Amino acid sequence: MMDKNTYQTMLQGLIWTFMEKEKVLGIPGAEKDVLTLLDLIEDLEAFWNTDGSLNPEKTMLQKLIYKTRKLYGDGRWRKMERFYLQKYCDRCSGSLEGGRIMSMFNEDCLCMSCQEKETKDPEYSKAVEADHDEIKRGNYNYKGIRGK
Ligand SMILES: [Zn+2]
Repeated sequence: MMDKNTYQTMLQGLIWTFMEKEKVLGIPGAEKDVLTLLDLIEDLEAFWNTDGSLNPEKTMLQKLIYKTRKLYGDGRWRKMERFYLQKYCDRCSGSLEGGRIMSMFNEDCLCMSCQEKETKDPEYSKAVEADHDEIKRGNYNYKGIRGK
């Protein structure tokens, strides 16, 4: 029979494992392992702790799982990874060796000469303003006035 201490120690061990993996491997490297561990934790909770008697922190644990899944699942890190790893400009297909910057109009990754051209667009200041407004409101995922 599973007792409270054993159960909570086991859960804690699994939680520490996924947190440590994330720290050591980073989100892209840890993704698969962390999601496997979350599945395992959910399985254990469903099997052993349906009434909350072995782990009274049931709700807190569910929140942690939800938040972690969201972080891994919404693909935000993937977008940034793509931005930093891609070799060619989204607009002109030129090399990004001279530097890269995100477009003010959408989420394109631009070379410096396309960025320069963008600043001459009649709507450029409108795009910058919209971007700053969204950030001020706490929205760091704004896709731009021409974003999809
Ligand atoms: Zn370009």
